[in-house]
Parts: sequence; structure tokens; C-alpha cells
Amino acid sequence: MLRIKVVCTLGPASSDRDTILALVQRGMNLARVNMSHGSREDHAQTIEHVRAAAREAGKPVAVLVDLQGPKIRVGELDQPLELNIGDEVIVAPEPIAVQGEVPTTYAQLAAEIAVNDTVLLDDGLLEFRCVRIEGDRTVFEVIRGGLLKSNKGINLPNVDLKTPSMTEKDLQDLDFALQYEAEYVGLSFVRKAEDVVDLKRRVGDRALVVAKIEKVEALQVIEEVIAESDMVMVARGDLGVELPFQRVPLVQKRIIQLANYHGRPVITATQMLESMIESARPTRAEASDVANAILDGSDAVMLSAETAIGKYPLQALEAIVCIGSEIERSGFLERGPRYLTAPGGLRTRGGASIREHAIAAATVDAAKQIGAPAIVVITKSGFSARLVSSYRPSMPVFAVTTEQTTFRQLAAVWGVHPVLAEDVEVTYEDLSDFGRRAVLEAGVGEKGASVAITAGFPFHKTGSTNNMRLDRL
Ligand code: PGA
Ligand code: MN
Repeated sequence: MLRIKVVCTLGPASSDRDTILALVQRGMNLARVNMSHGSREDHAQTIEHVRAAAREAGKPVAVLVDLQGPKIRVGELDQPLELNIGDEVIVAPEPIAVQGEVPTTYAQLAAEIAVNDTVLLDDGLLEFRCVRIEGDRTVFEVIRGGLLKSNKGINLPNVDLKTPSMTEKDLQDLDFALQYEAEYVGLSFVRKAEDVVDLKRRVGDRALVVAKIEKVEALQVIEEVIAESDMVMVARGDLGVELPFQRVPLVQKRIIQLANYHGRPVITATQMLESMIESARPTRAEASDVANAILDGSDAVMLSAETAIGKYPLQALEAIVCIGSEIERSGFLERGPRYLTAPGGLRTRGGASIREHAIAAATVDAAKQIGAPAIVVITKSGFSARLVSSYRPSMPVFAVTTEQTTFRQLAAVWGVHPVLAEDVEVTYEDLSDFGRRAVLEAGVGEKGASVAITAGFPFHKTGSTNNMRLDRL
């Protein structure tokens, strides 16, 4: 039973029924549809396949609808533009750009950029420096050249962009996500905590919000952003363009550590097995990167192009599962949780009270002391299960819930094995029996083994974990 969770981005290489079923059977926990590409009709079909595959495989799978956010792009070019170092190039808003100019989707560029600011294009492959501004047009000097193609991304690391955190398209995509009951909605290019608060207000309790950390501005207020989010993503693709790439490794560790500390699940994403887009085996450096992301404390690792457009989507997932199993068998993870000593001691973080943290920590500690093969958490919203998981117990967490949505949401949380309690009386006795039976049925523990059970009373009130009991299977 793997503790690390796997996010697979579904795209042309993986949106047919059979591939999705194979991905579910091989361990995909979270299916990501990326609204930056493809049509809503296609994504709708993909989500329906995910739901059907999860039913067929009898496994919880969550859907993450990832909103594009205020991504700035090159518009349509008649043909790719060869740009050499020292060239002068004019960038103009799409509607007014003429032959020979680079059209951009961001009409406000000239108004917000300053002379000497740099912009990066196509994942940082090309770099321009602003030399002058002429009305709506910006004149750049090419610092790093290359072949510029249509629709490539433009990153403006040092520009304080005024664009709202959600575009018109994002609002429509959000409606789509809610209509299809996505368990998670991703927000790209988060700059401040209010961006997350705003989306959470729109979403209410219909989905959980994943804040994608890929802007310097978000790093400057990272704890506030994490505290407002339900989950975070170390979005290394854009992050490594917005920041010098050498800063990504330590930033990754810091985001993960803080997310762990605040009890927020965290996904490490992008280029994890990049070479597997073309090749059936990962490079050793990629295997190491996945392993290190797990050792850093990620709840989940993500495949992007590898599964969306790569030649070997299933092999890429299998590689993650192999690497994860190896790490988890090693016992290395059990040395944690080193990140939990708070400066100042008091742990009211992440919206959980000190009492709730105390119960979660005590449950994990007691489970270890009594040699429990599993922890059972009875949870309505999933809150208690996430909190227990954040203490990184060395045994699996069986999260018993009566809620379908919670059941699927928890599929993305480290070490949590969601159990859907259907046709059960909502009493402590019945739910804990159900959980203990699930542990036995999973072959995780033997009859009579000790087990730690935690729950909140009353059940209908979420976020009130106040009870821990030591019992037997
Ligand atoms: P994206 O986000 O794939 O939507 O750009 C992830 C990243 O930037 O790493
Ligand atoms: Mn991104």
C-alpha cells in the first residue's frame, strides 16, 4: 500500500477509456485535467471516463481541474520567428500586431513593464530585455535567442502584473469544474493569499482549492497562501522560469516543509520524468528527483506531459510507483516528522486548534507505541484524516467516511486509505467496526492486533477531532 499519491495529467495520450482504467488500476490517485489545453467537451469526456474507471476498479480517484490563470502567451504567428542575440523585437497586443511583430495575449504589457525588465519566453528558452515603450508596443532586445513559435508562454518575473487572478476563461472553467463535481480546483499563478480566498469564496464547500506556487510574489507570503489553501502545488515549471532555476530545489523543500507544518497536502510537480515523454525508462537523475520529492515530504508527485502527451503514460506511472515503493520500504520516511517543532511551540496553524493537533499527534504517537498496523480515522469532511496524515505516521491511515466527496478527496492525501462507509449507522461503534474490518480486509493487520482510532464528536460537526481510543482489530 503506497503512501505517496500520484497525480496524472490526462491529455491526448491518456484520455481514452482503456488508458484511464489502466492508470487507475496502476495507482493514479488524482486525475488532472489542464484547462490550458483542450476543449471543455474533451475534458468532460475525460472526467466521465475517470468516474467510470474508478467505479470499475473500486478505487477512490479525485479529479483536479487546473485553471489556466493569468498565463500570458505569444499569439498566433504566421510562421516561427528566428530571433538572434542583439535583435530588436516589437511585442504588440494581439489585435494590433502587424507582420514582423510578436503578438501577445496580454494587452496591458506596455503599460505595466518598465525599461530594463526582462521577459522569458517558451519556458525560459528565450529572453528579452525591454529597451523602450512606444504606446501599446514594447520594444525588446533579444538577450537569449532561438526559434519563437505561436502560443508559447511568456513569463515576466519582475513585473508587478495588475491582471486579476482569474480571467473570464477561468470563471467559465470554474463553472465547468463545479458542474462536473471536481474534488479539487487548481489556481495558477497565485500571487497573494486573497487570490486563494477569492476562489474559495466562489467554490464554497463544493471543492478543495489547490494553490499553485509559481510566482515570486507568492513565495514572499508563502505561509499566508498555504494557510488559506486546502492543498498546494510546487509548480516547478513556471516557478523555475520566474525564479533562477538554481533556486528551485531549496524553494521546493521550504514549500513542502511549510505545507507539512500547516497540515496541508502538497504536490510536487513538473518534469519529474520528463525524458519519459519519449523514452520507456527514466533517467537516473529523474528517478532521484522523484525519490527526493518523496523524501522531502510531498503528499503527491505529479506527471504532466509524461502522461498527457507522452509515448509511455503507463510506464511513467509505473516508474513513480516503483520509486515510491522502494523509498517507503527503506524506512527512511519514518525518521520524520522533523518539521513539526514550531518556533514558539504553540500549534494553532492550518485552521486546526491546539487540541486537535494534540489529538492527532497523540494518535500517531500511541499507534507507534502499541505497534498498531493501522490508524483508523472517522471523518466527515476529511479534516481529521489530513491532520493525522500531516504527522506522517509510519502505518497507513484508514479514513472512514460516509461522504462520497470526502472519500475521493482523501485519495490525494499522503498515507490515507479512504474507506467509504455505506449502509452503516452513523454511530461511533458502527463506523469504527467498519474501519477495523477494512483494515483486516486490506490484509494490513491480524485479528486481535491493537489499533488507534480517532474521531470527532459529534459526527455531524466537522473539524472537531477530540477523541482517541486504543482498540483491537
Ligand atoms: P502548469 O503548472 O503545468 O499548468 O504550467 C505546473 C507548473 O507550472 O509547474
Ligand atoms: Mn504553471
